[in-house]
Amino acid sequence: MNKAIEIAKNIASSNKVAVLTGAGISTESGIPDFRGPGGLWQRFDPGLLSADKLINDPRNFYKKGMEVLGQIKKVKGAQPNKAHHVLAELQDEKEIDWIITQNIDGLHAKAGSTKVIEVHGNLDKGYCIVCGKKYDFTYIMDLVKKGSIPPRCDCGGVLRPDVVLFGDLLGTAYERAASEVRKSNLLLIIGSSLEVAPVNHLPDLSHKFIIINREPTVFDPDALLVWHQKAGTALLQVYEHIKKIKMG
Ligand code: NAD
Repeated sequence: MNKAIEIAKNIASSNKVAVLTGAGISTESGIPDFRGPGGLWQRFDPGLLSADKLINDPRNFYKKGMEVLGQIKKVKGAQPNKAHHVLAELQDEKEIDWIITQNIDGLHAKAGSTKVIEVHGNLDKGYCIVCGKKYDFTYIMDLVKKGSIPPRCDCGGVLRPDVVLFGDLLGTAYERAASEVRKSNLLLIIGSSLEVAPVNHLPDLSHKFIIINREPTVFDPDALLVWHQKAGTALLQVYEHIKKIKMG
């Protein structure tokens, strides 16, 4: 059977579907992913974006690490693509429940999704590592551009982006995500290499999972269904079939 029909049938027949998205869902919005072909890790060292680098070498974190985040933030003007829009429609129509995303680009909310768990935070804000005062991320980037490296709070503490860096502990968002996955009948995974822990434990917490990803992942053999396809193309087709199923 056609993959789109099979996936549509599984979504339509499940009471509660959780969705997990990764950087791959946003490449069609012009934001590079990390590990796909042409991804950011082919140009940058992942160690640059670590909590250790921020604390022990803030100068280089800001000189190099911010370049990586800048690539994602550059996309400030980026718009949600058809994959984000289809998920927002499906959520509105109660075909899917929570969207759990590893992305820090805010594109699910921009597409109109209301139930979104951002397990790695969001690039809108930053905060002082000493007093916790919040700042807009653009303000922090402006300080960096003006040569204040590392950028500092009024209290003198170093400012950091409010996203989860390698080596950071995940906040309560991950616990909420895990709880939603356990309560769901199906987990639909879109555009993730599933190489980043602990998010890649979520498939094992689910009753069953389906993967839509351009390249193979190590979780493919355990999935109920796998479709190696672009997220936008796949989701549009799945959505058309869900509409047909609902119309009887
Ligand atoms: P990843 O880069 O490890 O993997 C992305 C996967 O998406 C790859 O396997 C690739 O084959 C696939 N892919 C690329 N384009 C696709 C498309 N159009 N349709 C379907 N699949 C496609 O990404 P990850 O698993 O999310 O882990 C990377 C981490 O990096 C995340 O934790 C995230 O926080 C961060 N990140 C976020 C953004 C963003 O916010 N847009 C961008 C880069 C990295």
